[in-house]
Amino acid sequence: MYVSTRGNHPPVTASQAISLGMVPQGGLFVPEAYPTISPDTYIGNKSYQDIAHTIFTSLLTDYVDEEIHRCIDRSYNNTTFDAPAVINLVELDDSRQIMELWHGPTAAFKDVALQIMPHLLSCAKRKTGNKLHTVILVATSGDTGKAALEGFKDAEGISIIVFYPHEGVSEIQRLQMATTDGANTAVVAVRGNFDDCQTGVKELFADPILRLQMRGEGIEFSSANSINWGRLSPQIVYYFASYGTAVDRGIVTQGELVNFCVPTGNFGNILAGYYAKKMGLPVGKLICASNKNRVLADFFATGTYDRNREFYRTNSPSMDILISSNLERFLFDVCGRDAGQVNKWYHDLGTSGRFTVDDKTRKAIDDVIASGWIDENEVLSTIQKVYNEKKYVSDTHTAVAIALSRSVEPNGCKTIIASTASPFKFSRDVLAAIDADSDTSNEFDCIRQLAEKSERPVHGALKELGSREILHNRVIDIEQMRETVKDIIDKLAISR
Ligand SMILES: *Cc1c(COP(=O)(O)O)cnc(C)c1O
Repeated sequence: MYVSTRGNHPPVTASQAISLGMVPQGGLFVPEAYPTISPDTYIGNKSYQDIAHTIFTSLLTDYVDEEIHRCIDRSYNNTTFDAPAVINLVELDDSRQIMELWHGPTAAFKDVALQIMPHLLSCAKRKTGNKLHTVILVATSGDTGKAALEGFKDAEGISIIVFYPHEGVSEIQRLQMATTDGANTAVVAVRGNFDDCQTGVKELFADPILRLQMRGEGIEFSSANSINWGRLSPQIVYYFASYGTAVDRGIVTQGELVNFCVPTGNFGNILAGYYAKKMGLPVGKLICASNKNRVLADFFATGTYDRNREFYRTNSPSMDILISSNLERFLFDVCGRDAGQVNKWYHDLGTSGRFTVDDKTRKAIDDVIASGWIDENEVLSTIQKVYNEKKYVSDTHTAVAIALSRSVEPNGCKTIIASTASPFKFSRDVLAAIDADSDTSNEFDCIRQLAEKSERPVHGALKELGSREILHNRVIDIEQMRETVKDIIDKLAISR
């Protein structure tokens, strides 16, 4: 069963947690207890699909075997992913491996979760007898939006509305979203930053009057952000799968501790690594890599989370976040599952923008987390260095983690670095980093040049992007999110 981090909701099944998205009164669903995963289910040349089956069976206990199989078959196959094993493990040097998570349809790691989440949700709706039309509301810093649109487009009984910060995403990210087809999709630019979008979406979810109005029309809201358990749980799989591959290749021996270094924004990816550890994976430290928006690095260094600070737009835009939603789940766990305590911290965060955790909680955090932050110049010099030394091309987000993995050596364990986007998705910055003399005036020309320099084919998600038709061009103010949602719902071809 799943319980609320704020103790304000009775326990629910996995399908109810996925169907609800977040706790309606505020708070996030977390597993009541952690299952233990046996090493022989992920070591010994196990397929990604089989490992996924093991993890989902253990976590989504009210889904039957055949439902889980069907969800996996539809999501992880050779039409959705261009790597045979879904993910790819590449050696960087003796002590570091890169776990490429971006071989899905939109070139970002979010595909791993968002390809399967719509199937988990449809299934959850069937299981809970939910006949309402689901409108997925998404706030995105760039990558989630497109990955969610691709996952949910033309899904039955579901529509999707994506909000992104106007002028806060890359040109490629914007085009990827604005060219999405499908009768059930809408994409809206908001004059504000990512946190404004996310706060706006959270307010829509929490608005009882709106909820009642929508209910009257046979509509419910749900979320595809990483606050939804259906989004988070699929990410646990690749921690087990990459460890299994590392053992199978003789990089580590079975049971040997491995660090995972994760470029972090909303704390979803790294939290899945924490859950993997809780489920028995031999994880040493989880290294939380931040960019200049270092609210998490500062929190882990001081015990005070303080969002009252300047917001920066950096060359790793998907990590430009000041409110890391999933941290709440982590804090709930490390403070001893004390919902009263979590309530107090998040009340403080709401009123003053900051909270400080106690020493006992800090100690529990330090046992599992190492952290730090990397500035934009070091991101570029890291991309250049890795290219010069290994002919490996990394994107800007991955470079944050690569750079930090060098400076943080907490325990001598080998480290697996999560690579969260294809370098082609951020071609301009990546190209400028590996060749300062190149002409980066045209983003599409950058993609072509990068393919030449890296001797890699252009990721399928970015081919011919410039010639696709723009289908979404709405720009609104933050205050207009509510009316915009209503307007879109009126217009979308909702089959009810
Ligand atoms: C979303 C994203 C991140 C941050 O992941 P979180 O789960 O939000 O911590 C990092 N890199 C890329 C490329 C992303 O798209």
